[in-house]
Amino acid sequence: MIHPLPIATVIIEDNVSTILPCEAQIPITCDQCEADTNVSIADLKALAPITCQHCGARRAFTQAELEITRLVLAQAGYYFS
Ligand SMILES: [Zn+2]
Repeated sequence: MIHPLPIATVIIEDNVSTILPCEAQIPITCDQCEADTNVSIADLKALAPITCQHCGARRAFTQAELEITRLVLAQAGYYFS
């Protein structure tokens, strides 16, 4: 006999394909102080320089890092276009 999926599983499956809006904030870890600074996906996609909110360190955000961020988020079930 086949049981229907429990509701909790359905909710998790829903989360698995979450599409992030471009204003969603992604924590980016600072190279200097290792604190996270939230940066919007729109800024990441524009490859805007990231300024740490904690120590003020400024660094470039590269296309390669954008691709890694995209992969890491995809593994967690979050996607952005
Ligand atoms: Zn910092």
